[in-house]
Amino acid sequence: MDSLIHRLQALLRADQCLVGLDIEPRYLGDTMEKLSGALPLAVVRPESVAQVSAILRSCNDAGVGVVPQGGATGLAGGATPAGDCIVLSLERMRGVEEIDPAARTLTAWAGTPLQAVQEAAWDAGFFYPVDIGGRGSCQIGGNVATNAGGNRVIRYGMTRDQVLGLEVVLADGTVLTSLNKMMKNNAGYDLKQHFIGSEGTLGVITRVVLRLQPQPRSTCTALCAVSGYEDVLRLLQALQGSLGNALSAFEVMWPDFYELITTRVPGRPAPLAQGHGAYVLIEASGSDAARDQALFQAALEGVLEQGIVEDAVIAQSQAEARRLWAIRDGSGEFRSVFWPHVGFDVSLPAGDIGRFVAACTDAVRRRWPEAKTVFFGHVGDSNIHIGVKAGEGDQPTDDIDAIVYGLVRDWAGSVSAEHGIGLLKRHYLRYSRSEEEIALMKRIKRTLDPRNILNPAKIFEMQ
Ligand SMILES: Cc1cc2nc3c(=O)[nH]c(=O)nc-3n(C[C@H](O)[C@H](O)[C@H](O)COP(=O)(O)OP(=O)(O)OC[C@H]3O[C@@H](n4cnc5c(N)ncnc54)[C@H](O)[C@@H]3O)c2cc1C
Repeated sequence: MDSLIHRLQALLRADQCLVGLDIEPRYLGDTMEKLSGALPLAVVRPESVAQVSAILRSCNDAGVGVVPQGGATGLAGGATPAGDCIVLSLERMRGVEEIDPAARTLTAWAGTPLQAVQEAAWDAGFFYPVDIGGRGSCQIGGNVATNAGGNRVIRYGMTRDQVLGLEVVLADGTVLTSLNKMMKNNAGYDLKQHFIGSEGTLGVITRVVLRLQPQPRSTCTALCAVSGYEDVLRLLQALQGSLGNALSAFEVMWPDFYELITTRVPGRPAPLAQGHGAYVLIEASGSDAARDQALFQAALEGVLEQGIVEDAVIAQSQAEARRLWAIRDGSGEFRSVFWPHVGFDVSLPAGDIGRFVAACTDAVRRRWPEAKTVFFGHVGDSNIHIGVKAGEGDQPTDDIDAIVYGLVRDWAGSVSAEHGIGLLKRHYLRYSRSEEEIALMKRIKRTLDPRNILNPAKIFEMQ
């Protein structure tokens, strides 16, 4: 180990290779405290692709694990150091390298914060549509490595759908530069797809080419109350018919979530009465403010007349729209009003979500009669987030996990909709992937990283 550290110190300046007490706590894991990992052998902060390549070559030769780290906002423990390893932080490889207006692409270094990518795109007259709560801290490389989703997936897709090209450094130090800017490129395998969503286990992403979208010129927002999940589905179908591709968010909140946020979080009064079966936050965006507003208004009048929606409020200003979004984003306040709890990010076929929520609530209450639950999420993308609080104080996390993930398996869902598997969900990967699928994942891992140095023990254990 000492010889590896000496080799890294010879490659890098002292401030690029931190050891011992110089390692700040922020490098020890994801933002969730319970994921804080062991002290790594060193934290390296490369400033060029050549340095990333030399670091990986050295670690590969020494057979020492490397944990790629972006903004450490992941919620699955993927960036948490485990065992004797080196943390490779991308924080010094940041900045937008180029915006190509003709190709409508943006090329950025992997360590660029998502918000900086969004702002650079906007300043150049374009729009980068992926948006998540951790935008100020998470990095575009981390977004690619986790295939981040967020609120607008229903219209624009996940991060995978935005990526045209990548530069990746493989475990042995090989630099794979594939900064493609073209929508169509079927020249052999699309290798970048292997790295998107691979959680740092197949390569270190150093540069990213992203597709940009036209800027939306108008945004309409409304909150609707419906009697239950069947009407959530009817509403989604009706709005997809009337608004088509303009529908840019369809966020559902079950009454437990809505009541918690509008009752307990200061400054989030309920715009619609409590007591409805479900609440849906709807957003549509377009290119002609007057026409879009009229279309949106007509679409909502239609669903009210058909009895699909019981009550609705349309935001009349950006400030009102922000207040409606603040209710959905109230999940960011869980620490003060719903803590501690065990959180889940799962997917289910959209048609089953209503019955799944009822089954999940029943199963939890059978075990802990006083338990509290919250359900909310991006139902237009089949994704729900669940919070379970069995009681006050320390949570029986393993038991709660077993109940919820067991149900997800039984209902043919996915144990990870958008946060990845990391360390937290490793034992449940087989609930959503067959043995053959996992075996093939491991073959790909062995091919690209034969010495298993890249984020070892994340997603699955290699044997
Ligand atoms: C308040 C909040 C809201 C969130 N909302 C959402 C949401 O709506 N949707 C969603 O999908 N996620 C959400 N997240 C989770 C998180 O922000 C995303 O997973 C994000 O993409 C992680 O980026 P990061 O830079 O922080 O990566 P990290 O947490 O540093 O790393 C995540 C994984 O990617 C790997 N990795 C990081 N950078 C690289 C790289 N350059 N090359 C190779 N591997 C790398 C790491 O090894 C790790 O396995 C949220 C998080 C917070 C805190």
